[in-house]
Amino acid sequence: ESGEINTSVTEKPISILDDAKSGSKTDSPHVRVRVNLSSLNYKDALAATGHPGIVRRFPHIPGIDSVGHVVASEDAAFAIGDEVIVTGNDLGVGHLGAWAEMIDVPSQWVLPLPKTLSPLEAMTLGTAGFTAAQSVQALISHGVTSDSGSVIVTGATGGVASISLEILNKLGYKTIAVTGKKEQHQSLLDRGVDEVLTRSDFVDKSNRPLLSGKYAGAIDTVGGSMLETVLKSISYRGCVTACGMAGGAELHTTVHPFILRGITLCGIDSAMCPMPKRKEIWEKLSGEWKLDGIESLTTKVPLEQTPAWVERILAGGVTGRVVVEL
Ligand code: NAP
Repeated sequence: ESGEINTSVTEKPISILDDAKSGSKTDSPHVRVRVNLSSLNYKDALAATGHPGIVRRFPHIPGIDSVGHVVASEDAAFAIGDEVIVTGNDLGVGHLGAWAEMIDVPSQWVLPLPKTLSPLEAMTLGTAGFTAAQSVQALISHGVTSDSGSVIVTGATGGVASISLEILNKLGYKTIAVTGKKEQHQSLLDRGVDEVLTRSDFVDKSNRPLLSGKYAGAIDTVGGSMLETVLKSISYRGCVTACGMAGGAELHTTVHPFILRGITLCGIDSAMCPMPKRKEIWEKLSGEWKLDGIESLTTKVPLEQTPAWVERILAGGVTGRVVVEL
């Protein structure tokens, strides 16, 4: 109420889950999960610092991603001991999240952990991997294939972008990474990216409505002036996906890229993705698009260290994925 947010790692009685459940709007059966791993997404950092667009009720527990095993279930589809993934929906937003040993969620948010994914692989992917896969799928469904030309990915060392680059590289796309971290250029090239551009050089400072149309597709995780530049740089009939706002929520553009080049701007949302699509995306991530060695993108962090990592991700200083151990 004072506007001051206090963050702490603390013990709470399990009854807070029952209290939250009795106040919940849904009458869907619930599943209680002992969380084994969670992760740190940009959205978790906003939640952990009490961003009013994310958290409306305090005390709050962040954590939009989780993998763990079922300890109680009101739904016959899930048995005690089943390994499951719960990501997105309202977890860690309106609902108590997964930076906790236990969560209690409507069963329609729960997916069996695919047999081909370890818990660590599942949380290295998490919402970031899910968003990356949806973004790549959107490019493909708008006709951007590995033969169309190169795909540019912004915020390249971040969670969503690093996994997007891994998937695109696996599928044989020519990839261009834009990053603000000069010291990461070589490691991006080592991971298979074809070209790395420096953020400050890439972002356009002219007022021209169009730039040379160099890229067939783009996955933008940054927003703001970065997305504005990307839109001007897409070739005829290309496609841009927009999922993020790490560099700003505003977008100043003209209609020229749309009406002269016929490009598509495709919005990506993961939180409220309907279950059939959610299943399809996890099938891709655990099957055809499975990324071997993806754990090398991960830093494992005990729950106690999350406050420091929250500061780091908000300052744009995280590389790859951060998995939270419970
Ligand atoms: P992340 O790991 O922090 O990645 C963001 C990256 O953006 C950073 O690593 C940095 O990359 C770049 N960046 C940070 N601050 C910047 C700034 N001020 N100007 C320009 N670039 C900046 O975050 P994430 O979890 O991957 O999420 C990325 C974005 O997607 C966030 O805005 C997040 O909220 C959003 N998101 C949306 C959905 C959805 O459903 N729509 C799902 C997941 C994530 P470089 O240093 O390499 O440039």
